[in-house]
Amino acid sequence: MLVEKLAKRLDNGEQTILFLNRRGYSKIFECPDCGAVEECPHCSISLTWHKRENIVKCHLCGYEAPAPSRCKNCGSERAKWRGHGTQKLEDAVAALFPSARVGRMDRDAMRRRDNYRKVLGDFRAGKLDILIGTQMIAKGLDFPRVTLVGIVDADISLHMPDFRAAEKTYQLIVQVAGRAGRGDGDGEVVIQTMQPEAAPIQYAKRDDMESFLEEELAARREYSYPPVMRIVRQIFRARNDDKLEFYTREWAKLFNEKHGGICEMREPSPAPLERSEDFYRWNICYFCASVKPVVSAIEELRKEFPLDPDIEEVIDVDPLSMM
Ligand SMILES: [Zn+2]
Ligand SMILES: [Zn+2]
Repeated sequence: MLVEKLAKRLDNGEQTILFLNRRGYSKIFECPDCGAVEECPHCSISLTWHKRENIVKCHLCGYEAPAPSRCKNCGSERAKWRGHGTQKLEDAVAALFPSARVGRMDRDAMRRRDNYRKVLGDFRAGKLDILIGTQMIAKGLDFPRVTLVGIVDADISLHMPDFRAAEKTYQLIVQVAGRAGRGDGDGEVVIQTMQPEAAPIQYAKRDDMESFLEEELAARREYSYPPVMRIVRQIFRARNDDKLEFYTREWAKLFNEKHGGICEMREPSPAPLERSEDFYRWNICYFCASVKPVVSAIEELRKEFPLDPDIEEVIDVDPLSMM
């Protein structure tokens, strides 16, 4: 459907924006024989293939290596790339519409500052038919000739392990959709998703912020997430996972004994992003009505139970990301 609509825009000399919030070519190098997935050696996330340079990159720490041709774990040559990023989308569009003029805006394509101006300038001047991009194109750009916006895989942000996932998805769709029809012509938005019934997608489709907020608030209330309660998130990081787990659990036990009454402390657990730049990460979340007493209690306990020299601590009040 998106393909037909795109073809129509090309025939009419109108412009299209395709939004995909994932850089690179493919996301997951997976082995069908042993199930292994190629991950960053320093972080617990999968590496992304950048086909043109034929390298893999970690989008978190910047690690780069030659792209693998076989499974690192068992040596199988049947290991394959899955998933898609902006580079792959660009190739797919070029294959379907060989005569279309396509530009791409993501962090890789915009390594040089003048590239950014050039692609935007060309698109605005009508020298490009299709603009493919990540979050970079979501906000504030105004293109009067765009009459079609395609959101390719709106589910990426929906599945983030974060209580704000719905809010972020809603916001992103509304922002990107706002790029369509800013001129005189009518704009059309196509949202591609495996979960069309998901609340943030439904409400964004109807541009119904009030109902979205109402439902989202009810969900937050159920789990005492902000803004119902506030969260103090304590992250411990260390290179040694066993030591880290032991320390974190000890800390939580002591905190409960001494200050348990002032807030609702959730069980300590590995952070959703378990390892980043060679550091393992554990976190404790304190749900509270007011932040100050919790931070004071943490400071007080730290005097009695000092940080191990191998362990680092970060306190994040009302965290914007739960990764
Ligand atoms: Zn394997
Ligand atoms: Zn990494």
